Amino acid sequence: MIKFLDLQKINAQYAAELKQVAADVIDSGWFLMGSQLENFEKQFAAFHNVKHAIGVANGLDALRLILKAYIDLGVMQEGDEVIVPANTYIASLLAISDNRLVPVLVEPNEKSFNLDIDLIEKHITTKTKAIMVVHLYGQICWSEQLVELAKKYNLKIIEDNAQAIGAVWNGIKSGSLGDAAGFSFYPGKNLGALGDAGAVTTNDDALATQIRTLGNYGSKQKYVNEFKGLNSRLDEIQAGFLSVKLKYIDAENQCRRQSAERYLSEIKNPLVELPFPINTSCQVSDNNEHVWHLFVIRTKNRQALQNYLADNEIQTLIHYPTPPNKQLAYSELNHLNYPLTNAIHDEVVSLPISSITTEEEVTKIIKMLNSYSN
Ligand SMILES: *Cc1c(COP(=O)(O)O)cnc(C)c1O
Repeated sequence: MIKFLDLQKINAQYAAELKQVAADVIDSGWFLMGSQLENFEKQFAAFHNVKHAIGVANGLDALRLILKAYIDLGVMQEGDEVIVPANTYIASLLAISDNRLVPVLVEPNEKSFNLDIDLIEKHITTKTKAIMVVHLYGQICWSEQLVELAKKYNLKIIEDNAQAIGAVWNGIKSGSLGDAAGFSFYPGKNLGALGDAGAVTTNDDALATQIRTLGNYGSKQKYVNEFKGLNSRLDEIQAGFLSVKLKYIDAENQCRRQSAERYLSEIKNPLVELPFPINTSCQVSDNNEHVWHLFVIRTKNRQALQNYLADNEIQTLIHYPTPPNKQLAYSELNHLNYPLTNAIHDEVVSLPISSITTEEEVTKIIKMLNSYSN
């Protein structure tokens, strides 16, 4: 059986180092806001060439805290609008609506699966305060045009970088392109903790201070609470694990790229539409280094293809089966219709890809896809 993702095997590569970190933290008797977190934040900021990295409890909190901090700083207020791709994972929207801001959904580009930057301007109103770009499946969503738009309308650009750690656009890493970025270290992400964890990166001093304060009960000084904050901290043990795994992220992403390149060049079946790694202005892109969090194909009869692959011992998943605006949780958005988003959700299938996917597995997956017919 080729598993979609084998977390046991991925982490086994680093077992000795991870166990040492666990032992160090246990022996230290210090579990929150200590030297492991401080080290990780330093390394993470350096990796992204940004001034601030702030560890938080998870990726959703990273995004929630960015917006909450902007509200406290007077940059936006309740009822303001944030532009976000209609086909993102629901967490992007939850971060917006949790702050009583309004998510304004925009269709993706059909080729990149990322927010269609050409469609943004017509959705901008006097209430628009930010664009949340989501680097979906590991591919950066960015362009000069996006930067110009943000300048023209005085909008913040927030990166949902849960899926694209280590991706590079014109020599600049994802997570350092916008005003602030949220990261998830959910175990299945490219940089996965052994539990929940997340981070924010930014070059904005005031924003960084506010996020740190909000993540710690709204308090800079113990028992002195200036803001209604949250408890959203990155545990010492997870920070230690992440420091170990951060050393290997570029090598892991390179392994993913090797599998993706083979999928792209060797899968040849008219029933299977391959992802087209491009930038959003529809140019084939050398300057947009994908990190292939997911390798997503499209096919008309998805269930048949998934069944066929399962019968041949290849596990696949769907990212994602239902668009956020069709979820019960967003009943206020249920009436909206995004045809391309709907089509994507009906047709996508994610193939196994990870840092430990072997040549033989890739070969078998390609062979099985090429002999698929229905
Ligand atoms: C995983 C993910 C999140 C949320 O991260 P958690 O750590 O699970 O809270 C947010 N946005 C996107 C696009 C994600 O893939």
